[in-house]
Amino acid sequence: DEVISKIAAGEVVTNPASVVKELVENSVDARASKIEIQIRNGGKSYIKVSDNGIGMSTEELTLAVQRYTTSKIETLEDIYKITSFGFRGEALASIAEVSRLLITSSNGEVSGKLEVVGGKVVRISEAFRERGTTVEVYDLFFNVPARRKFLSSEKVEARMVTEMVERFLVALPSVEFLYKIEDEVVYFAKPSRLSDRFSTVFPEVREFREFEEETSFGKVRGVISSPQYCRKNRTGQMFFVNGRFVLDSLLNSALERGYGESISHGGKPYAVIFLEISPDRVDVNIHPQKLQVKFSDAQGVYNEIIRVVRDQVRKFPG
Ligand code: ADP
Ligand code: MG
Repeated sequence: DEVISKIAAGEVVTNPASVVKELVENSVDARASKIEIQIRNGGKSYIKVSDNGIGMSTEELTLAVQRYTTSKIETLEDIYKITSFGFRGEALASIAEVSRLLITSSNGEVSGKLEVVGGKVVRISEAFRERGTTVEVYDLFFNVPARRKFLSSEKVEARMVTEMVERFLVALPSVEFLYKIEDEVVYFAKPSRLSDRFSTVFPEVREFREFEEETSFGKVRGVISSPQYCRKNRTGQMFFVNGRFVLDSLLNSALERGYGESISHGGKPYAVIFLEISPDRVDVNIHPQKLQVKFSDAQGVYNEIIRVVRDQVRKFPG
């Protein structure tokens, strides 16, 4: 139908980090206040995302893994005023197709367990659990050897998952996160403030400023490090536009220009910056794997970032 045809199918699942992204977004959409993430072998053999969200009935559970079924959209109009992360209804279906998937869910009244292997439902059974959902993904790409071969080393895949988790940590300070690699706790973050989450993710940064400023295009808020704290690369810099993580090297450049002469040659300061821009002045590409953003007045946005950062950097003592 029209809704379906308007939704372009995309390659949702590329690696363990992309699975974690989709599953955590679903947990957030389900209004979870606690989310637990665990991976084994860089996520290649096992990924778990567990939440205390609204959960699903047994019927919803079977619908959840069917392509283009979503509980988040009813009309074509909805597509254009999306506030939740998901709406294409293809993430779980795509993951189910290329793994052994186990979903256990309870909506507080009924609990169920669904087992899917390579896209085929093999078992639906009763379960007993608290309200919420646990999704377990075993053996990603077990049935697609070409794509399995394409995955990086365990270490690199785990690193990419950790980076994904770190984005959620700073973007959602009010959500409790537990993140484990194998059985080791990497992050256990209680509900908190952005500045605490910044310290959790970048503990080496001992001096930073949190700020919030109105600009000509909207609000800019975030945390930036004192100029003495830098990395050799931009891995300490994250930008979010209207809540979504984006990659745009011009934003990184604007940030660094705001620091001007205060950073030694080539140093890359730390920053977590959130831009809030009226949706009609920005186009955040909704394709799950593309993180690009298009501003209708890009130069204006970059200039404002340079100005805001410069003002903040001046306030560091020394
Ligand atoms: P989308 O998020 O685009 O709707 P998904 O394939 O990611 O599509 O999920 C399909 C449906 O499964 C969702 O619309 C939602 O109803 C349900 N669902 C998935 N994950 C969860 C979860 N963690 N808690 C509650 N419901 C979920
Ligand atoms: Mg989703």
